[in-house]
Amino acid sequence: MRNRRQFLHDLSRRAAALALGSLFAAPALRQAAGAATEPPPRGHDPFTLGVASGMPRPDSVVIWTRLAPHPHETGGGMPDAPVKVRWELAEDERFSAGVRRGELLALPQHAHSVHVEVDGLPSATPFFYRFIAGDTVSPLGRTRSAPAVDADVGRLRFALASCQHYEQGMFAVHREIAERELDFVLFVGDYIYESSNPRYLVRPHEAGVPMTLDAYRARHATYKLDADLRAAHAAHPWVMTWDDHEVENDYANDRSPSDLGTDAFLRRRAAAYKAYFEHLPVSPRMAPVGPAMRIHERYEWGRLAELWTLDNRQYRGVQPCSDARGAGGRVLAQCDELGDERRSMFGAEQERWLAQGLAASQRRWKLLGQGTQISDSGIDAPLGRRIFTDGWDGYPAARERLLRAIAEPKLRDVLCLGGDVHRHVAADLRLHANDERSPVVASEFVCSSLTSRGLSEAMTAMLVAANPDIVHGRSDERGYALLDITPAAATCEFRAAPFPVPAGARLSSQASFRVESGRAGVLRA
Ligand code: FE
Ligand code: CA
Repeated sequence: MRNRRQFLHDLSRRAAALALGSLFAAPALRQAAGAATEPPPRGHDPFTLGVASGMPRPDSVVIWTRLAPHPHETGGGMPDAPVKVRWELAEDERFSAGVRRGELLALPQHAHSVHVEVDGLPSATPFFYRFIAGDTVSPLGRTRSAPAVDADVGRLRFALASCQHYEQGMFAVHREIAERELDFVLFVGDYIYESSNPRYLVRPHEAGVPMTLDAYRARHATYKLDADLRAAHAAHPWVMTWDDHEVENDYANDRSPSDLGTDAFLRRRAAAYKAYFEHLPVSPRMAPVGPAMRIHERYEWGRLAELWTLDNRQYRGVQPCSDARGAGGRVLAQCDELGDERRSMFGAEQERWLAQGLAASQRRWKLLGQGTQISDSGIDAPLGRRIFTDGWDGYPAARERLLRAIAEPKLRDVLCLGGDVHRHVAADLRLHANDERSPVVASEFVCSSLTSRGLSEAMTAMLVAANPDIVHGRSDERGYALLDITPAAATCEFRAAPFPVPAGARLSSQASFRVESGRAGVLRA
C-alpha cells in the first residue's frame, strides 16, 4: 500500500516536473504559440545537415537536427515561419520497442534547429532516433544512455578528436570513427575553422572569414555537408567542448587578436556561439544568451569514470605580453606577466568548480577533457627557453593550481585529454615539469588534428628532446586517439593518417600507451 502511495506520489511529482519543464524549458514553443506554421518546402530534403546526439546521461540524451534544404542560403531555404517537427527514439531500428516521441516547432530565429533532451530513459541502453518534417524522414541516428551512476562498468571506450580544418584534408578519420564500437566521441575543439591558409588547400570553404551570424551558419553548414562527419555524428553521441577557431584564432575571453574592439568582438562571439549552438547536439538549456554560453559540464560513467569537459577560451585571462592589439599567442623567451599569479585559463569560477569536483569524486578514473596540451612544450634556445603563450605554457600559475588540485587531495588515476596542438602526445604531468624528483601526479594524452596541418617534425623533435616528460610526440600525421578505460588500466591508441588526409584514407596505429590504475604516468603498451 505504502509502495503504491509512494509510486503515485512520485508520479504526480514527475507530472508536475514535466509540466514545469515544458513551461520553462520550451520558451520557443510558447513564444510561437498561435503563430502561423508552415510545412517545409516540398520536394527538397530538409535534412541535408544530418542528425546528431550528445550529452549522454544515465536517464537522458540530446538529439539534434536542423532543417535546411539549402543550407548556404540565408534562412537555409526554409520559410520565415515556425515549422512542425516530430522526433522518435526507440530501442530498435524498426521503432517498435520502448518508443518515445514528441513534436515541437523549429523556429526561424534559431535557424530551424531542433534540440530535444529526451529524458526518463533506461541507463546503459542503445537507441535509434529520427526526425520527421512534412513527409520527409531524416537519416537514422544511433545513440546510447550512460550507465547508472552506481553501476560497476567494465569498460568505457571513446574517440578523442579535435581540429578538423575542412580546407586542409578530407574527413576519412570520421569514417573510421563512425565504424567503431564506441560509447561516445569526445571532441575538444576547433570544430570549424574561421580562417584559411591558401598554401594548404584541398577543398575550399564556402566563403571568406565569417563575422556575422549568417556567415557562421554557412560555415557550420559546409562542415556538416561532409558525409563522413555526418556519419560520425549519426553513429555515436558526442561530448563536446570548444577551442578558439569556433570564433577566431587565439581569442581570449572578450579580446580579439584582430583589430576588433571589445564590443564589436563580443558581437562576433555572440554570432559564433549562436551558430555553434544551432549546429551541435548540446542541451537546449545551453542556448547562448548574448555572447555567453556555458559549455563546461561534468559526466559520470557508472563507478568507472567521471569526465569534466572544460572551457579554456571564454573566461581566460589575455595571453601574457601580447602585442598592442591586446590578445593573441606569441613565441617568446621571457616576459614579466608570465609570473602574474592572478592570470587564469579557466576563470576563477570554473577553476573552483573543477577543484571541488575533483576533490569530491568517488569514481575511479578522473578524466579532464579540455582544449590544449597541459605538459610543458617549450624549446631551449640560446637566449632562453622559448614558449608559445596561447597554450598552458603561457599560464604557468594556472597550470600549477590545476596540478595542485590533483596532487593535494592525493587523487589517483587522473587522465588529462587535450587537442589543439596538431600532434599526438603522451606525457607525464608533474608539479615541477621535467624534474625527476617531482612525482608524476597525472597522465596526459593529446590527440593530433583530424586534418589541420601540424608543426614540422624537426620542430616537434626539438620540443620532445627539450621535455623529458613528453614520452611521445609526433606532428607529421593526422588522426584521433582511441581510449579504452577499464578498472585496471587506461590504454590510448594513436590512430594515424598522412597529411593531407586523402578521401578514403585507411588509418594505421602510430603508437599505443597504457596507464595503470594506482600509478600515474604513461607506459608504452
Ligand atoms: Fe586546431
Ligand atoms: Ca586551437
